[in-house]
Amino acid sequence: MSRYKEEQCRICRREGQKLFLKGSRCYTDKCAISRRNYAPGEHGQKRAKLSEYGIQLREKQKTKAFYGVRENQFRKYFEMASTQKGITGENLLTLLESRLDNVVYRLGYGSSRPQARLLVNHGLFEVNGRKVSIPSYLVKAGDVITVRENKKDKAIIKINIEANASRPVPSWLEKDVKNSSGKVLRLASREDVDIPVEEHLIVELYSK
Ligand code: SF4
Repeated sequence: MSRYKEEQCRICRREGQKLFLKGSRCYTDKCAISRRNYAPGEHGQKRAKLSEYGIQLREKQKTKAFYGVRENQFRKYFEMASTQKGITGENLLTLLESRLDNVVYRLGYGSSRPQARLLVNHGLFEVNGRKVSIPSYLVKAGDVITVRENKKDKAIIKINIEANASRPVPSWLEKDVKNSSGKVLRLASREDVDIPVEEHLIVELYSK
């Protein structure tokens, strides 16, 4: 487990920025980016100048790491995004934001996306009254996400509600702490996505 945690920080160091994969630790001076902001490995302190392809590739890898999505699934999201109306890169971000694990994190019921993913996997949440344990489940406008009745007393849920009370909830979601739930008011738009991603680079990479 500790190795896994260290690996999460290595991902941030590889990308040269905070990806917030470890909850509250990410906001402290224990964050590896605050202490060693260079790539891991023997030659990590010598950042090579990237080619155009390298820049595009890193942007994709960083976005995958932010949302905890593997290559195959990320590619599927890209294909879905490219068949939807509108701008492919923006559609891609909307799809990623619509994942149930991301919504649980955004609502503050998970301290990080990786933890939210685990909590969803363990069956702690329901959508519109039905248990959903698939982190990649895509929410829709009007969906209500709730901590299941028999899970509301779990320590991890109580800790997260308290610890994340002051974390802002994006305007496309509405949090209801009293009922341990949240509602999707609308799908996220580009302006709602606060992570430093240049999605056009991903589109260019996949369009080669
Ligand atoms: Fe580790 Fe979080 Fe800092 Fe990333 S942001 S290096 S996961 S502590």
